[in-house]
Amino acid sequence: MPELPEVETTVAGLRSVLQDAVLTRVEPRRADLRFPIPVDLRQRLTGAKVTALSRRAKYGLIDTDRGDTMIFHLGMSGRWRVDPEEIGKHDHLVVETAAGRVLSLNDPRRFGSIDLVRSDGWLSYRPFTQMGPEPLGTDFTSDYLAERLTGKATSIKAALLDQRIVAGLGNIYVCEALNMAGIAPTRAAGRVGKVRLAMLVEAIREVLSAAIVAGGSTLRDYARPDGELGYFSKQWRVYGREGEPCLCGSTVLRRVDGGRSTFYCAKCQK
Ligand SMILES: [Zn+2]
Repeated sequence: MPELPEVETTVAGLRSVLQDAVLTRVEPRRADLRFPIPVDLRQRLTGAKVTALSRRAKYGLIDTDRGDTMIFHLGMSGRWRVDPEEIGKHDHLVVETAAGRVLSLNDPRRFGSIDLVRSDGWLSYRPFTQMGPEPLGTDFTSDYLAERLTGKATSIKAALLDQRIVAGLGNIYVCEALNMAGIAPTRAAGRVGKVRLAMLVEAIREVLSAAIVAGGSTLRDYARPDGELGYFSKQWRVYGREGEPCLCGSTVLRRVDGGRSTFYCAKCQK
């Protein structure tokens, strides 16, 4: 599943093709993904010039000179393909630029989404209204986290996956950051001390930044946004490594809650 670093990398790849490009063809190839695709998407984007691309949590935003912003989410299996050799049945949106470049949003499982909002109102796009700060942004500090977690009996892992507390963190990076910071995933969120919260904030930034630098990572086949194969596959500290050694020498364990796996080390995570 694409996580924040994959979306960041995807937006960077799209930017290399779309920045300042005029869209000559915008073709939704079905009426919906997870949600309906706006019926006026084609009309509002065709002929528009892309002025900026950005990311919020796991959403990509594409601004045009008409004051519209297309917002996409990659869901479970979505990816953008650049200059694909052919358009297949899972390419649900095809975009062409005046320079003749072709992009397709490919999403076999269709858990992704495509939406269109006015650029000056994107902050009130529903998924964003309750969302916490970006984990790589300056608002995400140990002071902020301490304030939000005070008195919380829920696990630190569940708290970090709560998009209202911090935006865009998924299972992989939460497992990795908790291992790096030496914090047990089951520990009550309100019972992680200030010093360890500071280590946690640093660990979150480090695991995300390392993945972005490496070009993103995923467990599924995932073409790079520039169309190249061989997407970086990262060596995780604990994720997907049940029974293998932790960096401390002990063994990585796995527990399952609500169908979701947590990988951790009982020796160095307290
Ligand atoms: Zn360990």
